[in-house]
Amino acid sequence: STYLMWFRSDLRVSDNTALYEACSTGQIIAVYLLFPEQWQQHDDSPNKVKFQLAQISNLQQALNKLNIPLLIKKLNHFNEAADFLISTAKQYQCRGLFFNEEYGVNEINRDRQVHQSFHQAQLTCQSFTDQLLFTPGTIKNQSGNFYKVFSQFKRKLYEKLAGINRLPLPTPVKQKSLNIKLVQDNLDIDFCNKAITKLFDHWPIGEATAQQRLQQFINHKVVDYQENRDFPAQPATSQLSPYLTAGMISIRQCLHAARSANQGEFASGNPGITCWINELIWREFYKHILVGFPQVSKHQPFLAETQLIPWSHDSDLLKAWQQGKTGFPIVDAAMRQLVATGWMHNRLRMIVAMFLTKDLMLDWRLGEKFFMQHLIDGDLAANNGGWQWSASTGTDAAPYFRIFNPTSQSKRFDPQGQFIKAFVPELQPIPAKYIHQPQAYLQQNQLHQTYPEPIVDHSLAREQVLTAFKQLKEVK
Ligand code: FAD
Repeated sequence: STYLMWFRSDLRVSDNTALYEACSTGQIIAVYLLFPEQWQQHDDSPNKVKFQLAQISNLQQALNKLNIPLLIKKLNHFNEAADFLISTAKQYQCRGLFFNEEYGVNEINRDRQVHQSFHQAQLTCQSFTDQLLFTPGTIKNQSGNFYKVFSQFKRKLYEKLAGINRLPLPTPVKQKSLNIKLVQDNLDIDFCNKAITKLFDHWPIGEATAQQRLQQFINHKVVDYQENRDFPAQPATSQLSPYLTAGMISIRQCLHAARSANQGEFASGNPGITCWINELIWREFYKHILVGFPQVSKHQPFLAETQLIPWSHDSDLLKAWQQGKTGFPIVDAAMRQLVATGWMHNRLRMIVAMFLTKDLMLDWRLGEKFFMQHLIDGDLAANNGGWQWSASTGTDAAPYFRIFNPTSQSKRFDPQGQFIKAFVPELQPIPAKYIHQPQAYLQQNQLHQTYPEPIVDHSLAREQVLTAFKQLKEVK
């Protein structure tokens, strides 16, 4: 018997749970659906969509080797998925559908509809946990609720991991040829024209590329990860996030490689490796939060009382931040990195998010949206989690009184200004001593036209935002 395997954000053939299970059950027809309008509504960036669509051709080659034909269909909205999949299943006399779960509210609703339609049509529909180590809802506290605090979540997850170590699955074996010709809509989408031009220089596609990146990182960098990961001038992190978001590599493959380099341990052993595994667990945590507290998927703060913070929507300030023209070199370099490469270093994501919310007091949702519109690794859960952390509106968020000073962050994490100079060319002539606050030097050297004055006074802004949060406490 034949089944459909619906690929979504799991664009690989190795350790793909649904694919593996489907191939163990019968003959497979693979399906990939494009939802350009829905993706735009989700603010998925042209960089991310172009990167993922390019991977489809790669996936097709891998599927060819397994004799699995691939059907590609362009729809618009998620609500068209169920009807299309049912009619395809009927057309090819398939007995059912396999796919891996996704966790945004709209994705969950879409998949529920698909399950129902298949059930009504008396066809099977099986979905699997694949993006995560554990299914959301299986890591809960003693009262049966989702954890809200990362350290507690992690402790529980480690307990479970000690008992269950699911190893990566192999690529399925080649099936008998089905000898059918399938519809293949083209993969061009208008808004992908807005992707950066050197996308694939920065981010080469492919499952093999992702595996090489992982191996390179594990062989050469992970042991020093804890020490070096906060310095954006060094490529000390794995830069695997786009590949994890697209599912070109799996979380189990990452964890397995890290554990193997650490004598099978995940919570003890080499500090670099345990620190990296900790970050993989943050990814897990935020996806569980998305399912447990779906309001965060609907533009709502996790902490309801922070609804009352009078966030600003000043469009000039927002534009200065977006364009990397705030007069704070580290913020500007970071924002220009985002726009130029579709990616930003984690330390910088925290700095610019804290700056937008605490120095400019702009609504964190404006920052969240702009990030999604540019990031190649845009992920609703991690992005929302990161933004709400910075805005002090989220789970386990930065306490509202712990506000980064952008200049001190700059001195600490880019001491020689190497990163700043790489992305803000007008500051290249500035000696390292002045790079973090270059305005006086620029003035003395008649260069003040080249770079903006700071758009905000950090100390004043700090007081303002502290007052707003304190008032909130009083209301409460
Ligand atoms: P590494 O340091 O090598 O970490 C390995 C992997 O762990 C990452 O690829 C990622 O999958 C995961 N990870 C690491 N840190 C985090 C974290 N804090 N939260 C969740 N997962 C994490 N990450 C995204 O994947 N997509 C996003 O849209 C996103 N938006 C963010 C927005 C803000 C405001 C902040 C503060 C963080 C955001 N992050 C996001 C998390 C983090 O910045 C990136 O995952 C990381 O910079 C990716 O680089 P890397 O692959 O080299 O990470």
